[in-house]
Amino acid sequence: MTEAVFRMDPYQREVETFVTARGDGWVELAATVFYPTGGGQPGDVGQLVGGDATLEVTETRKGETPELIRHLVAGGPEPAVGAPVRAVLDWQRRHRLMRMHTCLHLLCRAVDGVVTGGQIGDGKGRLDFDIPEATLDKVALTERLNAWIEADHAVAERWIEAAELDARPELVKTMSVAPPRTGGRIRLIEIEGLDLQACGGTHVRSTREIGRVSVAKIEKKGRQNRRVQVVFDD
Ligand SMILES: [Zn+2]
Repeated sequence: MTEAVFRMDPYQREVETFVTARGDGWVELAATVFYPTGGGQPGDVGQLVGGDATLEVTETRKGETPELIRHLVAGGPEPAVGAPVRAVLDWQRRHRLMRMHTCLHLLCRAVDGVVTGGQIGDGKGRLDFDIPEATLDKVALTERLNAWIEADHAVAERWIEAAELDARPELVKTMSVAPPRTGGRIRLIEIEGLDLQACGGTHVRSTREIGRVSVAKIEKKGRQNRRVQVVFDD
């Protein structure tokens, strides 16, 4: 399996590791800071540096099993199995994804409706809610999100046993995707005083780090569905 460094420390930008498997245009590593596409969050990009060769990581996905993380690479031959490499994130992009991901937890809390889907993009994000009426107001939602962001609520994680999660299904909500189960345990993300849910993505440490946002669009997508899109102000 690949050691998922981002799960314990999402702020770590690079790691010294070695190649455990390779194929045509891909590499797997013993450890990585690269988040693989999943749960509505896109996979990371960046570089693999080994000796005097640098490969671009153009995409990161899960491998043949969910415990394996595969880096799609371009710009040269894949390094041999066992070769030491330094995996370096495109941190600016990843940090924007962390900010938006955390903001979508706030949006989930702000809207009284079941989340049916979502997607995080670079600089924007959206959630779909199962809401029949057009009751949502862009200005009011924007103000509510920014008030929580400004209040700087701490974002913390804790782990629970799978059996506890099965007994509390309300903890699974945002992305309608099952959260990762690591060694029979599940990670919860708590935004102090606001939101608690199972999640395997990457988040910032407190809400002020998100920065100011605006609700850009509220669209009707089907009779029972409202899509809310959020963008950064900067
Ligand atoms: Zn999350």
